[in-house]
Amino acid sequence: MTQNNGRRRFLYLAAFFVFRILVVVIVLGGGGWVLLAHPKTPVPSHWNPLRDLKVSAPVTPVTRYQLNRTVADETQCRATLAEAGVHFEAMEGLVVDQSCGIAARGLLTRLATSHIEAIETSCATTLRLAMWEHHVVQPAAHELLGTGIARLRHVGSYNCRRMRTLQGENNGWSSHARADSIDIIGVVTTDGRVLTLLNNWQGTGPEPAFLRKIWRGACDWFRVVLGPDFNRLHADHFHLQGSGWGYCR
Ligand SMILES: [Zn+2]
Repeated sequence: MTQNNGRRRFLYLAAFFVFRILVVVIVLGGGGWVLLAHPKTPVPSHWNPLRDLKVSAPVTPVTRYQLNRTVADETQCRATLAEAGVHFEAMEGLVVDQSCGIAARGLLTRLATSHIEAIETSCATTLRLAMWEHHVVQPAAHELLGTGIARLRHVGSYNCRRMRTLQGENNGWSSHARADSIDIIGVVTTDGRVLTLLNNWQGTGPEPAFLRKIWRGACDWFRVVLGPDFNRLHADHFHLQGSGWGYCR
C-alpha cells in the first residue's frame, strides 16, 4: 500500500515537472515568436529567421536558414534577386523529362556588382552565386588583389547529361541536368587582369591565394564544390552545386 502511494506520488511529481517545463517552453517560445514576428520587432532582419533573405545584409548564423527557405520558394527567390540588383529575367520552366529540366528558370545576365556572360539557369543557382559573389569573391579580391571583380567567367549551368567521372560516364544524372550547378573557369578583375583556374591555380602569390580563398568560400553558399584539387576533370573549373550534401574538395 505504502509502496503504491510512493509510486503514485513519484508519477504525480514527474508529471507536474514535465507540465512546468512545457509551460516554460510554450511561454518562452510563444514570446520569442511574437518578438520575431511583430512588424516593429527590434531584432534586425538579418538576425530574424522569419524575415526574408537580403543578399547584401551581413552574414549571421540565421543567413543560411534564410537562404534555404528562399531557394525553395520561387517567388521569394526572384524577389530577393531583384532587390539585390541581379538581372535574372524570368523564363517559363523547362520540362524535358524526369531527369532533365529547369525549375524557376531564368536568364542571368548580371550579378549585383559584376558581369557574367548570359546564362540560362535556375533561380536557386543564381541566388547561391549572388551570395558567393557578394560575400566571398568581391571581398577576397579587395583583400588579396587590391581590386574588385568585373566579370565572372563560366562554361555553363544547364546540361542534360549523366555524371562524368575519371572512369567515364556514370549512371547517375549530373546536377547540371536540373541546372543545380554552374561551372566557373575564372574572373576578370576591375583593373583588367584575367585569372583562370588553368593558369593561376598553382604556385604562390596573390592570384593563387585569391582563387583558393573563393574556392573555400564557395562551400559556405553551395552544397557541393569541386575544384582542381578534386580530380583532373576539374582542372579548369569550379563545379558549384546547390544540391547534395556538404562535399567540398
Ligand atoms: Zn559542373
